Amino acid sequence: MPCKKLFIPVLTLTFLFAMPATRAQSQGKQAADKKTAAIRFSPDMIDKTIDPCTDFFQYACGKWMAQNPIPPDRSSWGRFDELHEHGEYIVRDILEKASVQRAGRSANEQKIGDYYATCMDEGAIEKAGTKPLDSDFQTIAALSSKKDLPAEIVRLHRLGVDVLFGFDSGADFKDASMIIAQLDQGGLGLPDRDYYVKDDAKSVELREKYVAHMQKIFELLGDAPHKAAAEAKAVMDIETSLAKNALDQTSRRDPQKIYHKMSEKELASLNPEFDWNVYFDGVKAPKFDSLNVVEPDFIRGLQSVVEAHSLDDWKTYLRWHVVHANAPILPSVFVNENFAFFSKTLEGTKELRPRWKRCVSYVDNDLGEAIGQIYVEKNFPADSKARMLALVAAVEKALGQDIQSLPWMGDDTKKQALVKLAAIANRIGYPDKWRDYSTLEIIRGDAFGNSQRANQYDFQRRVSKIGKPLDKRDWPYPPTTVNASYNANENNITFPAAILQPPFFDNHIDDAMNFGAIGAGIGHELTHGFDDEGSQFDADGNLRDWWTADDKKKFEERTSCIRDQYGSFVAVDDMKLNGKLTLGENTADNGGLRIAYMALLNTLAGTEPAPIDGLNAQQRFFLGWANVWCQQRTDAFTRMLTTIDPHSPSRYRVNGTVSNMPEFREAFHCAANAAMVNQNACKVW
Ligand SMILES: [Zn+2]
Repeated sequence: MPCKKLFIPVLTLTFLFAMPATRAQSQGKQAADKKTAAIRFSPDMIDKTIDPCTDFFQYACGKWMAQNPIPPDRSSWGRFDELHEHGEYIVRDILEKASVQRAGRSANEQKIGDYYATCMDEGAIEKAGTKPLDSDFQTIAALSSKKDLPAEIVRLHRLGVDVLFGFDSGADFKDASMIIAQLDQGGLGLPDRDYYVKDDAKSVELREKYVAHMQKIFELLGDAPHKAAAEAKAVMDIETSLAKNALDQTSRRDPQKIYHKMSEKELASLNPEFDWNVYFDGVKAPKFDSLNVVEPDFIRGLQSVVEAHSLDDWKTYLRWHVVHANAPILPSVFVNENFAFFSKTLEGTKELRPRWKRCVSYVDNDLGEAIGQIYVEKNFPADSKARMLALVAAVEKALGQDIQSLPWMGDDTKKQALVKLAAIANRIGYPDKWRDYSTLEIIRGDAFGNSQRANQYDFQRRVSKIGKPLDKRDWPYPPTTVNASYNANENNITFPAAILQPPFFDNHIDDAMNFGAIGAGIGHELTHGFDDEGSQFDADGNLRDWWTADDKKKFEERTSCIRDQYGSFVAVDDMKLNGKLTLGENTADNGGLRIAYMALLNTLAGTEPAPIDGLNAQQRFFLGWANVWCQQRTDAFTRMLTTIDPHSPSRYRVNGTVSNMPEFREAFHCAANAAMVNQNACKVW
């Protein structure tokens, strides 16, 4: 479904690369319709007028950036995006073939083909107008008191509409073998609570524009301007009071702050006015008697938020979220207005993406594993998995050597760290068990219904896990995803098929370059098991302290070096990076690059390969790393990601890491006082 936020279980899933929820909202009209070829590293991308010791990112990516401006329908453009776009064409071919109505289509082909064809039929969507919303609007209008809210909220949650709070399933942090219910903060239209509470001029301006956007949407629904203005203000008031009780992103990275397992009775005492029984009955999940209340203050605060606003205002709030969640599959006036605020104003994107690209992303969101099964048959050669597993084994071995040789860690903690490392499972390419879509009905000609049923299917799929053992065969995203992740509760890494291609993974390139690119990516994900967050979970994925107090203290001293280093980097204008929010990712980047380098040295075993294009193996290793991060963003998008994204901007992922490595200084013969030599080099792993 178009506007759905990418499902990310509470905290414990850490990605290689930003996957903010709003990305799925990018919309588009006709922009450049070029098909990108496979994207290998080429020495032509290097800007030789730049000294690598002064600005390695600029040296490695300068020419690429000059030749690859941000397309008008994007808020950022980089190597990840190039590869993702390459995949969009492959997926479009799959969907177009599947959309031809013929005998012998498989059940999955019928679903993905009809979903896509229906999404592409703009004429029918224009003709239907806002009629598909009528039924939801009537139900909301009929609410007779605030006592009706729990039943209506669960009805909307089942349809993928984010109102008031969030409900999901997830691993029990302290018994990760079991899935429990999770009650979380939610119900905001802007990307994060910070947008509602910050006082700087830019935040105030964005809030004003958000209110103006809501007013326009209400007007498009037929409300008179003065009424629409009052409605927009009412929604803003409600969302602001929700935001004030919500936990910030930095705190949400601390597992201790987001784990509060309690009985239903204890939950009821937090907020006695809300009828949780009605809500939980409506969830249609297996019975449960305890759950994780992620942020108790938020749930406690709901009571006064509900009381403080009139029933009419609550109806307006629900109506807003219904239209907001569905805007991308409504007629073009809604699509365009949604784009104007969420993509243009918030992210700095100039143009809407072509319809087909939007539809590809919607089908991938809703039926990703149905596409994925066909995708991997043709695009994931059998030997890729074997080669990737060999690379993973090499990097894991290096991390083991690294742990054993750490000067700051005692033997007891080292032993535990090695147990955890040995327990990490590797999921490569695609899931062993594919998702079963047989209960999801996709009807040709019913774009809105398809989206709603897909949301319902997904909600049910997730909540039906409650009370069951964790099934590690479930993947959080489809194989067509250009990303990778580490899951702290499962203690495993995931590398989907789509990232196992050039420039990340290349069967036709030297080891040095592969270790710098995908090798450091593997190292990054493995290191997540040992960053400030992952290190709090043990080999079984349980939140359990396996550190001696002394080693923990030394670990924290070392991570604070990284926190301060990155916290001094300027993201955009006067905005610096949040060193604490990005600490886990930066630790993973630094550890990942270093252990990948160790793995390369192990592989070379003292031999020195002949230089390629005048670059030796060490230089090519660091270029392999920088190359995958070549990327540029609009200032607006950088501003947004600096607030919500735990990853640093590409420039610092490259320059921050290499400046901490004496091996880099050696490889490029940098002077001791060069910009790329951090005088206070940070090293954790
Ligand atoms: Zn990461």
